[in-house]
Amino acid sequence: MLTAPRSSLFLIVAIDGGAAAGKSTTARALSARFHFLHIDTGSHYRALTAELLRLGVAASDPAAVERALTGLALGSEVEGRRAAITVNGRLVPDAELRAPAVNAAVSHFAAIPAVRAALLAYQRDQARIGRENGFAGLVMEGRDIGTVIFPSADFRFFLHADPEERARRRAAEGQQDSIAERDRLDSSRKTAPLVCPSGATDIDSTFLSLDEVVERVSAPIAARLAAA
Ligand code: C5P
Repeated sequence: MLTAPRSSLFLIVAIDGGAAAGKSTTARALSARFHFLHIDTGSHYRALTAELLRLGVAASDPAAVERALTGLALGSEVEGRRAAITVNGRLVPDAELRAPAVNAAVSHFAAIPAVRAALLAYQRDQARIGRENGFAGLVMEGRDIGTVIFPSADFRFFLHADPEERARRRAAEGQQDSIAERDRLDSSRKTAPLVCPSGATDIDSTFLSLDEVVERVSAPIAARLAAA
């Protein structure tokens, strides 16, 4: 029987969950521990939102959004273990991605099917970028990674935590962000709503330290790599 050479193993890990559920910290830790390319898909929706706001396009006008999207070319820049999105060749600065206007508008734009369609192939293609850049896998965080983008991912996790704990974490980061409202919009939209993917490992991080969350997520991945 032919067995794949060890070097061809490329693991895809999907981490979904609501705002401030601990996804980014967990994804960064996995990326460092296993040399996975880290992709934060929230930043993709934020970058498109920032650009559409700059163009003066409102989420209440989906036809205008769809027209504007045809003029936006998406690219990737790998920096360290992270790939960041570029829009028409521009890397959108973090301050712009996290601006209060973007926090307030992003879930409205993310509910528009044309916006999600614009990101679907782009996000799946990040696995190719990971392989081409010599990474051992991809860790992608978002709201629909285990349900829509990579439903056959090697590992799918869903993180959640009590709303009060998540609000406390976001405030500790000094951010003005109504996470409960975003979660409400993200969970109730028709296209790719925020839900725990069926068959995913569901982790409640309310009473866990981030180190404990990282340990729970890392253990099965480390076991798989050790067995490869
Ligand atoms: O993860 P973050 O909080 O930065 O995501 C910002 C917003 O982007 C979410 O509230 C959601 O509306 C949208 N999003 C999404 N699907 C993803 C990732 C983010 O709809 N996979």
